[in-house]
Amino acid sequence: MTNLEIGALLHEGKAKKVFRTNREGVVAVQFKDDATAFNAQKKAQLGGKGLLNWEISARLFEALETRGVCSHYLGCLEPGWMAVQEVKIVPLEVVLRNLAAGSLCKQMPIAPDTPLEPPLLDLYYKDDQLGDPLLTEARLELLRLVSPGERLQLETLSRQVNAVLQGLLAAIEITLVDFKLEFGRKPGGTMLLADEISPDTCRLWDQRAIAEKEGRILDKDRFRRDLGGVVEAYGEVLKRVQGLGPTPRHYR
Ligand code: C5P
Repeated sequence: MTNLEIGALLHEGKAKKVFRTNREGVVAVQFKDDATAFNAQKKAQLGGKGLLNWEISARLFEALETRGVCSHYLGCLEPGWMAVQEVKIVPLEVVLRNLAAGSLCKQMPIAPDTPLEPPLLDLYYKDDQLGDPLLTEARLELLRLVSPGERLQLETLSRQVNAVLQGLLAAIEITLVDFKLEFGRKPGGTMLLADEISPDTCRLWDQRAIAEKEGRILDKDRFRRDLGGVVEAYGEVLKRVQGLGPTPRHYR
């Protein structure tokens, strides 16, 4: 096969850029150092974040794959870059919550840290201009974003991801509080887990932290809440995730 060549920019999101390649059905994703929060009202450049999220994401996608949960991930290219299957992203954000935190505690009379059993699964409409609104059953039907079969598939897969990730992270003394997933459709219509899985998209609490509550935060809440040490916290996540398995594979 000819070497993979990276071509034109197809799409630039808040945290990643997607490029065409010379291979049918394969795109290259570059992880950026840009950090955004509150629907991009708060922005910063965090040197090293892209590389950290790239490697954490690659390792978690591979760990999921080993445990039977497939995604768009194909393999790594140069540092900061991965090859993924080309999909059209479904404008839905699937959020799984094991413990109450973040927007749930702002919108509902539920105290932070309350265990959610079974884990709470919410769907949001992915649209920055609309502020990613929480979807109701009726609004989801109205928008016809997914068929009932796809919905079931997406929710089942999200719960599987949760179970696998929770176990993996617990082994490295990290609590998976909540996270967001995105899915995409391949040209034939097959749904695939897409996007990234990183401290930008998960709430991760350090079980080793004995200091004040903020000290346990290893995710984007450090940026959202101006706690400092964002890159250091992501670095700690990577260090522990590296202990879970081999160096991510190279895509050729
Ligand atoms: O803000 P909220 O509490 O609803 O976020 C739940 C989880 O989903 C958090 O881990 C957050 O980082 C993630 N999330 C995300 N992208 C969004 C919204 C939420 O990664 N647009």
